[in-house]
Amino acid sequence: MTETILLGDITIAMTRKDIKNVHLSVHPPSGRVTLVTPLATRPEVARAYAASKIGWIRVQQAKLLGQARETPRKFVERESHYLWGRRYLLSIVEKDVKPFVRLDHRRITLTVRPGSSPSKREEIMQEWHRALLHAAVPPVIRKWEAKLAVEVAGYFLQRMKTKWGSCNSRQRNIRLNTELVKKPRDLLEYVILHELVHIIEPRHSERFISLMTEHYPAWREARAELNELPLASEVWMN
Ligand SMILES: [Zn+2]
Repeated sequence: MTETILLGDITIAMTRKDIKNVHLSVHPPSGRVTLVTPLATRPEVARAYAASKIGWIRVQQAKLLGQARETPRKFVERESHYLWGRRYLLSIVEKDVKPFVRLDHRRITLTVRPGSSPSKREEIMQEWHRALLHAAVPPVIRKWEAKLAVEVAGYFLQRMKTKWGSCNSRQRNIRLNTELVKKPRDLLEYVILHELVHIIEPRHSERFISLMTEHYPAWREARAELNELPLASEVWMN
């Protein structure tokens, strides 16, 4: 169960857990703020705590947005790349073998043939992103098919400029933006759920909103986060 604390222009998603201390976090890439508190914490106490940390929150968010405004990726050594909401440093290895990508806890290592162009490097990264999504998406679809009692005929991954996802409710197909691989996994889940709910209700009607609220209470925060930097050029319209 997520509650929302609003402090001026800052939205904080608050959840309660069986823990001893409060835990406030500002998450990359967009600067989303979460607060986890012990079960018994009263809302006004949580709010006062968050208010006392507002300066720290703003500093963290400014740092993250500074990173987000970097120029388009060039696929060079030590460049920042996001995966599932976390920032990694890119490492390039030139080797005369079939290109591949490897991930460890801090780095994405891209092995390419000597002299490969930036566009070739980008193509290899995109293939890797698609493979990661093809591993991540089906379990989430299956989970929500069962919960919503719907059946999805298929899904497509696509680079899209203006949408995070779309749904053809008559054919029961959904389309997902490959850029979702850069976002936290809960946002991928949100987009999949949103599109699956469209199989039941094609429009953003009252019924649609009440289904979303029932199954994903923090959907407004998720939507806001998807519309924030660094993908501001890709405003989510669907
Ligand atoms: Zn929609």
